[in-house]
This record gives sequence, structure tokens and C-alpha cells, in this order.
Amino acid sequence: MKKMYFITGSQDLYGEAVIRQVEKDSREMAAFLNEKLSDICGIEFTTVVQTSAEAEDICTKASSDRDCIGVIAWMHTFSPAKMWIRGLQALKKPLLHLHTQYNEKLPYDSIDMDFMNLNQSAHGDREFGFICTRLHIRREVVAGYYKHDDVIERIRKFAYAAAAVDMCHGMRIAMFGNNMRDVAVTDGDRVESEIKYGWNVNYYGIGDLVKLAEGMTEQDIDRKMAEYAEKYDMDTDNIAAVREQAKYEIAIERFIEKEDITAFTDTFQDLHGLDQLPGLAVQNLMAKGIGFGPEGDYKTSALGAVLFRMSEGREGATAFMEDYTYDLTAGEELELGSHMLEVSPVFAASKPRIQVHPLGIGGKSDPARLVFDGVCGKGIAVSMIDLGDRFRLVCAEIELVSQPKPMPKLPVARLMWKICPSLPVGSAAWIYAGGAHHAVVSTALTADDIRLFAKMTDTELVIIDEKTDLNAFEQQLEMLDLTAKLKR
Ligand code: MN
Repeated sequence: MKKMYFITGSQDLYGEAVIRQVEKDSREMAAFLNEKLSDICGIEFTTVVQTSAEAEDICTKASSDRDCIGVIAWMHTFSPAKMWIRGLQALKKPLLHLHTQYNEKLPYDSIDMDFMNLNQSAHGDREFGFICTRLHIRREVVAGYYKHDDVIERIRKFAYAAAAVDMCHGMRIAMFGNNMRDVAVTDGDRVESEIKYGWNVNYYGIGDLVKLAEGMTEQDIDRKMAEYAEKYDMDTDNIAAVREQAKYEIAIERFIEKEDITAFTDTFQDLHGLDQLPGLAVQNLMAKGIGFGPEGDYKTSALGAVLFRMSEGREGATAFMEDYTYDLTAGEELELGSHMLEVSPVFAASKPRIQVHPLGIGGKSDPARLVFDGVCGKGIAVSMIDLGDRFRLVCAEIELVSQPKPMPKLPVARLMWKICPSLPVGSAAWIYAGGAHHAVVSTALTADDIRLFAKMTDTELVIIDEKTDLNAFEQQLEMLDLTAKLKR
């Protein structure tokens, strides 16, 4: 199991008895947090750092330990921070600075100088914070008593994001075909994606899948059909079309297993040898956490897999979504999100139906797909774009709502939502920010989760929420452009 290191800071002026007490307290605190985070990662007490060499040793160890996804640092006593410089310079893992105490309350009746010297994180954590700021280290500071629910919740969120960042390292993304011709926003710098996030993005010929699909036995397809029958309602007589999708799904499963792929893309412009655009196949895979981006959109595909993982164990749904069309009734503006086929059934409000309909684009046979209405609830839409000199995450708070009327002639799954603070402000802000028509929508994650992921990966982030004011938002974008120029 992956873990986070719990590192306690002190110094070598206090004598052995104090250090023993610091270690005893730290072990107890780490054990408590280990329990509280056991579904995400372990929390392992490591050491009480007293010298510069020890700081460097433990930070170097954390950086090279593949099982370590992050570091929690806390100063029980004072810990002069020049001794942390080399350690922090060596630290390559996400850092949570936990500003807390062993004791919740002050022992007013018994407090003396010894107690105050032992329990002086108000003092020591400021010194540690200064050196982090001086070294420009992006970290999360969580302040409060470590046993309080809100503090635990913030540590848990950090751990989720740290696990997602860890997942990115060496994550492999397959592009079947390339980026859809002439589309700008789905494209991106794959080399930079690997440098920045660890995403290894590679092109594969669709023929690799076709070959696997051709080798499929009827028994293989029967097994996949049984899986579909269990999860979905068969709402078509065209069983042959559904079996074709089953074949594609098994082919993709075998391919991603063999090539250790976590996310993939396809494009309807490059389906040579496939009779249908993969629809049902992709939908069923997305529900298992396999990232998907259509039209060669590798960034959304990778982000979908990462955010799905980040949301595991939490209530709600996470998957790729596309902005399609609006209801612009004044004051009640709604957006309809969907895709040609590929909407994940994690968003289904009721049991999805398998249907076969013509697809007016791509010139292939009628593809089988899942059709359903979407869930309701608060959520976010997250888009990643490549601005040439940097990536940007655009995160909008949205509210998924039930569709006001049935859409009996729309042969695809769909979601409807309101963007915060309103369509005139929220959608304009999204467009000013350059946000794509592809996003990852989640009702499990919040803007705060995305903030943590952006912080840990040093990715530019703009958030659109209830407080968004267009004038200030545009100024923020200008400032970000200027900052990026200065950093170059
Ligand atoms: Mn699209």
C-alpha cells in the first residue's frame, strides 16, 4: 500500500528526554492519522529531525521511495529552518505542512516553561513556513487540531490528490489515430505532458485493435454480452450491432492490459477496419475508470482517469463530458452535455438502455450505445488546455439538474446543468479562459480537489464559482499571462 511519511521537526538542543517525548507524541499522532486515512494510504512515522543531515536524509528517502506519495511535516518544538534547506531542496513529493499540536487545550493550571518549550509549533511551524516560502515550495498548509474532523478531512483531500499525482507518474495513454484534423483545443504537447505530469502518450494504429477484434471467439463475445445484459436493458433487435461493440470492448481490454494503458483516445476519422464507431464499448470501459477522450483528446482522457481515481470511494460520478447545446430561456439557462455516443453510464439516473441508431457522421454502420438521462446534484466541470507555454486547468462549479422535458428523439445519453454563478457569467468566463468543449465532469470531487491537484503539479488553475466576477476574472487571466511570461 502507498503511504505518506510523517516527519517531525525539532533540534538537538533540548536533550534526550525531550526528543524521546517528541517521538512518542509523533508516533501516536501518526498512528491516529494512519487509522483515519487507511482507505487512501498509510501514514508512517519516520523520524524526529534534529539536524540538517537528518533533514536531507529523510527528504531524499521520501523522494526516492516509490511507495511514498507525499510528506506530512510538523514542528513539535522549535526547529531552526536553515537546517531544512537542503532537505526541502531534495524533496520531490507533495508536501503537507500540518500546523497542529499534540495537545488540544492549554493546561492553564499546570503550564510552565518546560511545557511551552516542548509544545511550540506556533513558533516552530512559522519558522518552517518561512523557509518553505523562501524556497518557493508549493505546499498545503493545514492548521488546526489534528483530531478535529475538518482537519482530518483536509488531510484526506491532500492524500487523494497526492495519490492522483502519484498515479500520473509513468501513466500510459494510447491514442488510436491522432488528433481530429484541424481541431485546436484537443491537441497538445505530449512531450511536455510527460515532463510535467509523467503521462506517457503514444500513437497506435487502429489496425492493432482490428487485429485483436478479428481474433475474437463467439464465446468471448457471449461473455461480454452477459455482462451487458446484467448491467443494461437491451432496447434493440439489432443484436449483431451490439455484439460488434462487445468485440471492440474486449479488443480494447486486451490491448490496454498488454500495453499497460490507463487511458485512451480514438477518432471517428480513423476507424479503418472497424464497422462502427466504438460507443457502448467505450461507455462500459469508462465506467470502470479507464480514461477516454474522443477525437484524439489525450489530455481529457488522462485527466478523466486521474480524476476518476481521485474520486474512488467517494459518493458521486466522474467522467468525460462534452458541452453541446443550450436552453437559453432568460434566467433559467441550462446546458445540455452529451456526445456522439461516449457518455459514461456512471452518470445514469436509471438503468441505461442499449440502443442502435444511425450516426450522421463518420460514414460507418449504425453503432450500439447506451442511452439514459443523467443524475442531479452539485459538481464540477474541469478542462485542461495547452496554452503553448503552459497547461491550464479551468474548473467550473455546476449543478446537474433533471431535464425539464423528455427528449424522445435524442438517441444519446445526456446531462443537463447550470453553470455558476449564471450562464452569462460562467460560460463567458469559461470561454475567456479558453476552456475546451471537452471536460471531465464530477459530482464526487469539488473545486478544492482540483486546487490541490493543480498545486501539487504546479499547473495554472482558474476557478469559476458563485463569486466569479467577469471583470476581476479577465484581470486574473491577464495577470496569469504576465506571470507565465516572467517565468519563461
Ligand atoms: Mn467531442
